[in-house]
Amino acid sequence: MAVASGSARTPFIAGNWKMNLDHLQSIAFVQKLAWTLKDAHHDFSSVEVAVFPPFTDLRSVQTLVGSDELPIAYGGQDLSAHDSGAYTGEISGAFLAALDARYVIIGHSERRQYHGESDEQVAAKVAAAHRHGLVPVICVGETAEDLERHGPSAVPVSQLRTALEGVVRGQEVVVAYEPVWAIGSGQAATSEQAQQVAAALRATLAEVLGAEAAEATRILYGGSVKAANIAGFLREKDVDGALVGGASLQLEEFASIVRYQKHVI
Ligand code: PEP
Repeated sequence: MAVASGSARTPFIAGNWKMNLDHLQSIAFVQKLAWTLKDAHHDFSSVEVAVFPPFTDLRSVQTLVGSDELPIAYGGQDLSAHDSGAYTGEISGAFLAALDARYVIIGHSERRQYHGESDEQVAAKVAAAHRHGLVPVICVGETAEDLERHGPSAVPVSQLRTALEGVVRGQEVVVAYEPVWAIGSGQAATSEQAQQVAAALRATLAEVLGAEAAEATRILYGGSVKAANIAGFLREKDVDGALVGGASLQLEEFASIVRYQKHVI
């Protein structure tokens, strides 16, 4: 079964496992997720599903997804801005592409916060992803302090503008708006807040890449997404999916998030 393509803004639910689940656990999880969704008759062409395991799991996930033809996409949580060479500990986009990864998360707030990644480094990584045929999931978002000082959209918009510097029309990106204050805090943004920033991000995409590309680009919300709040976000015009952290590690919860279209609210 084919994984949905993002060209018509197919809703996208992505699970960022962060530094959780080893390669054996990842096999069990992906297998159970696929079974659960299949049992529930999930239509993968109406909502795309992807997981972002640690690097050491990717080969196992590739083997499982490939051999069982599971309609689940996967990607890396980061990549190097360089393609090869003396960069100990780094992972090349070429290696992710060789494992049939479709996506790569770039500029997650934990990378920015704990590894000092700048907007310029994020832009270099976005270029690296495209060199290897990967779709970058570009994370942007403001801290609580940014929010107080600059209002809701200024920081995410400026981060996106820099991240897009090397992107040319025709290159696919996914944008994830993840307010830093909402990540792992249990305090999600309201759907109205998410929509307000997503609309500003789409306007930025239109300015930089043109109206057609902006219309086709998926913008996700991330930050304490759960089964109980996902449907509200997806009702918003400019929110096309979610990047889910903690809840993506709970099988039933994540499957329920994926199946948000069936929620009665
Ligand atoms: C994340 O890790 O990108 C994230 C949004 O985490 P959580 O869903 O746990 O807030």
